[in-house]
Amino acid sequence: MASRPDYYKTLGVDRKASAEEIKKAYRKLARRYHPDRNPGDKQAEERFKEISAAYDVLSDEEKRRQYDAGSGAFAGAAGAQGPFAGFDFGAGVGDILSNLFGAAARRGGGRTQTRARAQRGADIEAQVRITFEQSIRGAQVALSVPTHQRCPTCHGTGAKPGTTPKVCPVCEGRGVEAVGQGPFSISQPCSRCGGRGTVIEEPCPTCGGTGAVRTVRRLRVNIPPGVREGSRIRLAGKGEPGRDGGPHGDLYLVTHVEPSPLFVRRGDDLEVEVPLTVPEALLGAEVEVPTLEGTKRLRVRPGTRHGTIQRLREAGPPRLGGQGRGDIRYRLVIDVPSELTEEQRRAAQELAKVMNGNPRARILKVGAR
Ligand SMILES: [Zn+2]
Ligand SMILES: [Zn+2]
Repeated sequence: MASRPDYYKTLGVDRKASAEEIKKAYRKLARRYHPDRNPGDKQAEERFKEISAAYDVLSDEEKRRQYDAGSGAFAGAAGAQGPFAGFDFGAGVGDILSNLFGAAARRGGGRTQTRARAQRGADIEAQVRITFEQSIRGAQVALSVPTHQRCPTCHGTGAKPGTTPKVCPVCEGRGVEAVGQGPFSISQPCSRCGGRGTVIEEPCPTCGGTGAVRTVRRLRVNIPPGVREGSRIRLAGKGEPGRDGGPHGDLYLVTHVEPSPLFVRRGDDLEVEVPLTVPEALLGAEVEVPTLEGTKRLRVRPGTRHGTIQRLREAGPPRLGGQGRGDIRYRLVIDVPSELTEEQRRAAQELAKVMNGNPRARILKVGAR
């Protein structure tokens, strides 16, 4: 499992930093490492790229949320021992850089100025339908995801074979334009080339210059046990391919769980409704109830009230990204027949006669005061 760049560390800010603090930190660092101020300094250039990549994610509320979520408990649980063992997890910084240099070597022949800036691929989302059983036990499901792949004709450059992308005349290959005057100008992605640093004069006929063609990717993915309706599973590096050696985006799977006829999901727990007859509720009983593994005898106390919940601890679904299992809650409901036989009616009348006390007496007294 490759490590991800720590964008907070890159910008030297706390994980809880506000948008304003992030902006301030970025401006300070961007000024210091801007290629204009460090001509010919490769290290400064790389540092500037890292800072820009970090700011790109952390300055965008949605991207930051996804980044934070990806490094949270859930991604931690999906480690080498977890349900995603065997998948390659996205490119780390090292990979990005080696791709950059690889791309430069392939087409530049030493002319590093013509190399385009690596861009990360977009994230994609796919919906997965699973049964209730699969949501509890986990499953491996086959999936077809419409996505793009690197254009086989131009190998992702977007340029017609035999031609190469040219250095962008606006930003001269830097990919950024300075806005404002003086030494404290702020950089933004170049308006002509969109930050790539290169422009394509003769587009590739296969992909029209985008460097990518549509395809359908078939994947087998492991759904971890314990997912619910609407759970989002992140598969790092399984999204759209990046441009010019940039890493793939991520694939998010959203699970849709077929409802169970018996169990209703309540947070980490499951709930089952257990009907009791009037005598069972009055006298107590031992009733058979369903569990995830089969059935179990549940002891119902004499004098059980309608709606009482009895828990079977740790018998529910596995907790996602955590330890142990949720509970099964049995909701005891008193089931009253809508029709009685003559014998039942007589027994009920006998019962009414011997039941002393009117349960409404107290509320009537309170109301009269
Ligand atoms: Zn440009
Ligand atoms: Zn192409």
